[in-house]
Amino acid sequence: MVTKLLLDKPFQVFKIPPEDLILLQFHGYFGNICDDCNKELSDDVYLICVLNYGVCKNCFEEWYQRAAYYTEDEKYENALASQYVSIMNSLGIEIEIEERGKENEN
Ligand SMILES: [Zn+2]
Repeated sequence: MVTKLLLDKPFQVFKIPPEDLILLQFHGYFGNICDDCNKELSDDVYLICVLNYGVCKNCFEEWYQRAAYYTEDEKYENALASQYVSIMNSLGIEIEIEERGKENEN
């Protein structure tokens, strides 16, 4: 199941587990290389809508530390996010909304 992260900075980020990633890759929506470090994606992938990037956990965390949220990008980001949501819906991939920020994950 895909998780839409609830972050302190209001970015739209989806965490995609390997089993759902395979389905998305099969339909041509994802490659298997991190868009940041170019390593092979073998675990959860983080879809950063505002960049239209699919990255590994490390790259997501590094990006999140330095990222600043610009409301100017909101329209573009929302458009991409809803595009991905409809793709996932059409493939029968369920999306849950994370209840708390990632700081509280452990
Ligand atoms: Zn990476």
